[in-house]
Amino acid sequence: MSYNWCHNPDCHTIETQSRVRGSGDNKVLRTIKINTDRQWSKDTIWDYFCNNNCLFSFLNKFRQEVANIRPVNKPSETPIKVEKTKEESYRYRYSNGESRRVPYISTRTTISRVDND
Ligand SMILES: [Zn+2]
Repeated sequence: MSYNWCHNPDCHTIETQSRVRGSGDNKVLRTIKINTDRQWSKDTIWDYFCNNNCLFSFLNKFRQEVANIRPVNKPSETPIKVEKTKEESYRYRYSNGESRRVPYISTRTTISRVDND
């Protein structure tokens, strides 16, 4: 079995039964051990963090370092085409306990990518 320890430096301070190890007067809260053989977390962030709380605690604590891994100094853009089409649709109008189907013209907005190659 291969495993990682949860990378949240505070994982071992969170009080849950699943972290209790040891016996008698020698009990501790221990960092969660993550089985990296499990299929559902293969090649995902969950090979390194035991849950959402630990992942976001880590991200919050090391936000500057994380941002510095790949600085973003200007926005990126994806070329698109925006198409608006009109089509007949229906809405329901309720009055006196009865509903009536009322037609109206709706506008559908479709965004599609433009290939620049
Ligand atoms: Zn954890």
